[in-house]
Amino acid sequence: MTHAQSATTARGQFAARQWRTPRAALTTLASLALAISACTGGTGSESGSAPAGSGDGGGDAAGYPEDSITFVVPFSAGGPTDTVTRLIAEPMSAELGVEIVVQNVEGAGGTVAAEQVANAEPDGYTVLMHHIGMSTAPTLYPELPYDPLEDFETIGLVTEVPMTIVGSPNFEPNTMDELLTYVEANLDTVTYANAGIGAASQLCGLLFETATGLDVTEVPYDGTGPALDDLLGDQVDFMCDQTTNTTENILSDAVKAYAVTTPERIEALPDLQTTAEAGLEGMEVTVWHGLYVPGGTPQEIVDALNSALLIALEDENVITRLGELGTSPVEQDRATPDAHTEHLQSQIELWRPIIEDAGVTAG
Ligand code: ASP
Repeated sequence: MTHAQSATTARGQFAARQWRTPRAALTTLASLALAISACTGGTGSESGSAPAGSGDGGGDAAGYPEDSITFVVPFSAGGPTDTVTRLIAEPMSAELGVEIVVQNVEGAGGTVAAEQVANAEPDGYTVLMHHIGMSTAPTLYPELPYDPLEDFETIGLVTEVPMTIVGSPNFEPNTMDELLTYVEANLDTVTYANAGIGAASQLCGLLFETATGLDVTEVPYDGTGPALDDLLGDQVDFMCDQTTNTTENILSDAVKAYAVTTPERIEALPDLQTTAEAGLEGMEVTVWHGLYVPGGTPQEIVDALNSALLIALEDENVITRLGELGTSPVEQDRATPDAHTEHLQSQIELWRPIIEDAGVTAG
């Protein structure tokens, strides 16, 4: 897997496609995670990760920020997490009065980036944007080199995004019924793209497998940006991804759309049935995003970032664009460190038994 340093170089450098069984893919990803963590400086404990969230760490809060801030995105440029990050970075940058540089640090379903930020200086200049994967990784990765609750300060929730199950333009099935029949009949050849173990697309695939009893062949990428590119090119058959990445392709009929993973249909895609309507039980998932800084970052810095986030989430351009992409910013009272921490904690508890029951692990 690549470890891209900028948006421009990141796109297209996705993982070599691996056409394997899910189990084999899991093993490969686990070894990759270890290899990548070795080249990024070892585990959190070995390289002296920031102390647990005391909020009184070594960063210089006075005058913050004085320099550009790096927003670390754990997936490829052009994907849904990257899209949301770039969208809010603009008004946050205007509010904070400094440049925000977006850095795509890919690998191991988002855990490489999270480890990097957990071990960064707690000075407010390295900020992580992560999604629901922050809550699933502790169960998926027995050797996770950071603790999502202990090694970070939360800044606030950002968005909650529905997911959609979509197929490549020339994939035979046109409806969910046809998809299920086709996948069952062609289990050896049908391929499902995801962004690695810990990605929302992997979680959604796991729920699909649980709901249907079908064990699909996963093709892991470094993000669903490049995965969607391959789907559009008919190089992979189907995937589940956030509306921020799929809505425009669904509306223009560039992909086949089978269902949306929310309890109700969504405004941006009113003709798309829900997974429940399609008879897929328990296949509801909404991807939430939040901002983090390393544990021990001074409270004043957390407050400054949070104030900028609150303003960004009321920005007209952010609201309009997210609306076009099938979502919206979270309410202001959820874009707070406390609400974010509470949500993270409850999501860790929600997903743990589901993942354990499915028997999926990167270890
Ligand atoms: N959100 C995607 C996923 O978790 C990854 C990405 O943002 O590219 O599947």
